[in-house]
Amino acid sequence: MERLIGIGVSSGIAAGPALVAIQRTQVIRFPISPDRVARELSALERARVRSSEQLQQIRRRIHELKGADLAAIFDAQLLILDDPMLVSRAATILCEERVNAEWAVQRALDELASVFDDVEDPYLHERKGDLHDVAGRLRMNLRDGKGTTRDLLQDLDTPCVLVADELTPSVVAQLDWTRIRGFATDAGSRTYHTAILARSLGVPAVVGLHDVSQRIPPGASVIIDGETGEVVIDPLPGVRLEAETRARLLLLRSTPVRDAGVPLETTDGTRIVLQANIERADDVAGAVAAGAEGIGLFRSEFMLVGGPPDMAAEDEQYHVYRQLVERMAPGPVTVRTFDIDERQLARPLVDAALDARWFPDHERERSGHAGLRGIRFGLAQPAIFKVQLRALLRAAQGHTLRVMFPFVSSVHEVRAARTLLAEARAELEARGIIADHVAVGIMIEVPSAAFTASLLAKEADFFTIGTNDLIQYTLAVDRTDDRVSNRYQPLHPAVLRLLRQVRRAAVRRGIPVSVCGEMASDPLLLRLLIGCGLREFSMTPGALGMARRVVQETSAAEMAQLAAHVLTLGTVDEIERFLHAAFDNRGADTEVPTR
Ligand code: PEP
Ligand code: MG
Repeated sequence: MERLIGIGVSSGIAAGPALVAIQRTQVIRFPISPDRVARELSALERARVRSSEQLQQIRRRIHELKGADLAAIFDAQLLILDDPMLVSRAATILCEERVNAEWAVQRALDELASVFDDVEDPYLHERKGDLHDVAGRLRMNLRDGKGTTRDLLQDLDTPCVLVADELTPSVVAQLDWTRIRGFATDAGSRTYHTAILARSLGVPAVVGLHDVSQRIPPGASVIIDGETGEVVIDPLPGVRLEAETRARLLLLRSTPVRDAGVPLETTDGTRIVLQANIERADDVAGAVAAGAEGIGLFRSEFMLVGGPPDMAAEDEQYHVYRQLVERMAPGPVTVRTFDIDERQLARPLVDAALDARWFPDHERERSGHAGLRGIRFGLAQPAIFKVQLRALLRAAQGHTLRVMFPFVSSVHEVRAARTLLAEARAELEARGIIADHVAVGIMIEVPSAAFTASLLAKEADFFTIGTNDLIQYTLAVDRTDDRVSNRYQPLHPAVLRLLRQVRRAAVRRGIPVSVCGEMASDPLLLRLLIGCGLREFSMTPGALGMARRVVQETSAAEMAQLAAHVLTLGTVDEIERFLHAAFDNRGADTEVPTR
């Protein structure tokens, strides 16, 4: 038995045999039952025959076009394909270790590649590229038209726990979660979109485990605990039993709140509004049951993930927005325009939605976090942006639908986006559609926006503070990089000062301000935010029950005193110690010092 500790990002406990997916090389390994061995062996043989036919065909064509010298490359590849160290060896691995054919090919390739590494001959060294090429062809033919991870994961004998190096939101959005009980990944953090999606789907998940995909053999029994962040490999029977009991308790805890319709107040009568962050129109009912008074953040870009490619079309979007407002009525819905980040979303789907010329291949490979995302993308691609704006204006008729721009970093961007909104309105008018007024807000999630909040407040009808990004950009800590996750500190004095500044700017201008980052779904941080004068919060529906209880037990006046002191402290350690003492002892030895 071995225990690993990562970051629990979506609570719940999942147990079962491990299915390991290496996304970077797109290889999946899973255990197969004895009666499946013959099926996998014949798939391997079919893939070999097909690969051989394809290579002969390529060889013939190159021979005709460019002559025998160049065609010899493919003679060499045909020889590699027939080498007993590759396909025959893969067959042996498949039978002995009872793993899927694709993984067996990968294993045989690794063994053969290390032989090539050991020889000194430069000619043979160069053949290594051909070896990878041949193995890639074999794997492609093994997939037999089932190209994506999602397709491959449908092919499971028993429900599994997915263990991967990384998982994109698009894969998570498309998997059949009745067959996969939860997941654990090497990469990731609490605020990564994959984690956010896991919470909204109610799938237990642990991320940031560094090398879990290398450590867990396929088929090994694993338990993951999305609350504590613990992963147990080959658990002892007692540990397994305990996990099952905890899983049942967690299920009981997640029952819907009873007083969902009652307006929420702190102990001293301060009204607090809780709304939900969602990614799919289907999540509205769950959000309402959990006590949401509205949708504070609809991450519209998730419509492009796993949906039909025509989700970029106006009518399709209109139907989704319309479903949202109708299901949430009379509560408000805030739709954030596409916060497209090329790295986080599935490339093929984004490609379908975007003008492919806009991102040359090398651009698409780069991290998109601080690149062309959010409002920058909308302004650079006005045609795509205006389709979305028209769909939103149409859907808003007779309902409270607010439009919000993500990743704003200047006044100029807001004005330009408003101009496009006016154009979208005029285009609808030309079609005989007179759209209602919609409130236009901005996300404050980039430090430049926070610093210029008083200027931006003149341009916007409301602010929503996106603490996930605001923290990462203020502290220069990539929120998806598990190696620096300990530096991602919501209690950093810089973050708290910025929050205070943004709130003040909104209050002075008389516009509403809410917090929609994950910060609000931590009980301790939520109290502090209330102490900082914030009154509206939007969070993952799963956290609403907790937030409701916290608000009902909190005095806003007491928290304001506490927050005032916190803002005088210099380090995260001091702030944490002070807050823990305050909340653990309920004021006994934590008198707020008077200055
Ligand atoms: C945020 O940045 O806090 C936020 C809510 O947006 P996202 O996590 O989708 O970037
Ligand atoms: Mg953000």
